[in-house]
Amino acid sequence: MPPSPPNNSSAPAGQGNFSGGCLSEIDDEPSTASTPAGVDLPRIERAVREILAAVGEDPDREGLLETPARVARMYAELFSGLHSDPSIHLKKFFTEKYDEMVLVRDISFNSMCEHHMLPFIGKAHIGYIPNGKVVGLSKLARVVEEISRRPQVQERMTEQIANLLIQELDVKGVAVVIEASHSCMSIRGIRKPGSVCVTSAMKGIFRSNLSSRSEVMTLIYGDRR
Ligand SMILES: [Zn+2]
Repeated sequence: MPPSPPNNSSAPAGQGNFSGGCLSEIDDEPSTASTPAGVDLPRIERAVREILAAVGEDPDREGLLETPARVARMYAELFSGLHSDPSIHLKKFFTEKYDEMVLVRDISFNSMCEHHMLPFIGKAHIGYIPNGKVVGLSKLARVVEEISRRPQVQERMTEQIANLLIQELDVKGVAVVIEASHSCMSIRGIRKPGSVCVTSAMKGIFRSNLSSRSEVMTLIYGDRR
């Protein structure tokens, strides 16, 4: 008495689930209709088609026909930071006498690891001690956004954010801490999902003064432990 083969009613359920989740994503049109300057969409499309063929797929099968164009638009979005200058967000500052710490915690971001072209996703925390110049808090989030939207490594991204605040705001000290999980560690290679990479850049007072440094670390992590 062999078990009867799965009937038709079970297969569509599974397939429906699978393609349903995917289909909800594929109608996504780019938020900006125009091609970002400096991005060659047709060239990306050709390359994606080539990758599909190279891994043994048929780029002409129905489900894949639109994929190269979709991936090209996605890359244009994910790498849009290559064509923008994050320092412009720090040019508009307020002159304030305030010289205590300003901290913006939990700025979420997603970036692309430049070694594998796979996403790494996490949060950035930025603390600084102004030297007469204070920026709107959302500007720090914009800086993180633009610096993350390019092929990146987390260590460099951390340094770039810290250096930008020194360069544009002449801060007395800046502390940048980034925590992220890397797809290239969770889905391939060593396959350790859940591991978090933490990087920090401490400049000025936060580098030279231990109590300032522990103060910013307490403010970032204090109530989470
Ligand atoms: Zn990687």
